[in-house]
Amino acid sequence: MQSPIEPAEPAEPAALPLHPDDAAAELAALAAALGAELSRRVHLGRPREASSAGTAARATRAAEAAEAADAADAAEAADAAEAAAPRAQTVAVPTASAASPRAPVAPPPPTAAIARGAADLGALAQAVAGCTACGLCQTRTQTVFADGGPRARVLFVGEAPGADEDREGVPFVGRAGALLSDIIAKGMGLERSRDVYIANVLKCRPPDNRDPSPEERELCAPYLWRQIELVDPAVIVPLGRHAAQVVLGTDAPIGQLRGRVHRVAHRAVVPTFHPAYLLRTPAAKRETWADIRLAMAELGLQPPSAPRGGS
Ligand code: SF4
Repeated sequence: MQSPIEPAEPAEPAALPLHPDDAAAELAALAAALGAELSRRVHLGRPREASSAGTAARATRAAEAAEAADAADAAEAADAAEAAAPRAQTVAVPTASAASPRAPVAPPPPTAAIARGAADLGALAQAVAGCTACGLCQTRTQTVFADGGPRARVLFVGEAPGADEDREGVPFVGRAGALLSDIIAKGMGLERSRDVYIANVLKCRPPDNRDPSPEERELCAPYLWRQIELVDPAVIVPLGRHAAQVVLGTDAPIGQLRGRVHRVAHRAVVPTFHPAYLLRTPAAKRETWADIRLAMAELGLQPPSAPRGGS
């Protein structure tokens, strides 16, 4: 059985509708498909990006349906309600690609080559600072690359910078950032500036804090993959729906993804709710704490003390 974290195999050439008049174009499309698969194998052991036509369409519909913050709240709450599925310590990641062999495969985004060309985190941060690959470059104050230690064993992934992050150039500041800092320090007994690495899927703020579009996620994700490669954490904790979907290469809701340890090559991936959602829904802190304990078990950590306030 194919590993659920492995990318779908490229289409067999014989299955492509080759015709004498357009054979060259079809072969070029096949080469692009193979290039896309190779690109996906460069990062953390390849969670597949949600790039199949069917998945992208579903992601687009989902993104459009959740543009407003209230809608995002509703989605997270609905996801939480769906989390009644039996818990397993290790589960299969849903297959991202259910596309037929004839479905068009997009070439890797231009940012993939830029990210691969960065030899270290400093070079990558510089490349990101000059990135104009999507329209968010026109509205950002500055790019928001990362925070924390470059040798961290655990990497938190958020969605995108908000207004505070856009202004300060640091991910997870403001109230949601303070809650994440509490989770790290009081819950895990770790030092935020040294023991964890924090990054977002998007490095530029979407206007009005809207959800990232599928195209923006696809374009910016190679920078995150390269960060993961260079930091090489043992555990990745995606925070919220967008981060979990991108890291695991699925469009499943967060309620189906959290509460479990997913295996992506040699890394453990433990999705949980976004701290901003916890601020609006304090009752979800209990589930987040359960997720954090799963991550700590993967790291061989014991809680320093009972968590305060359920966080
Ligand atoms: S969001 Fe990402 S892809 Fe878009 S301009 Fe910023 S760094 Fe580039």
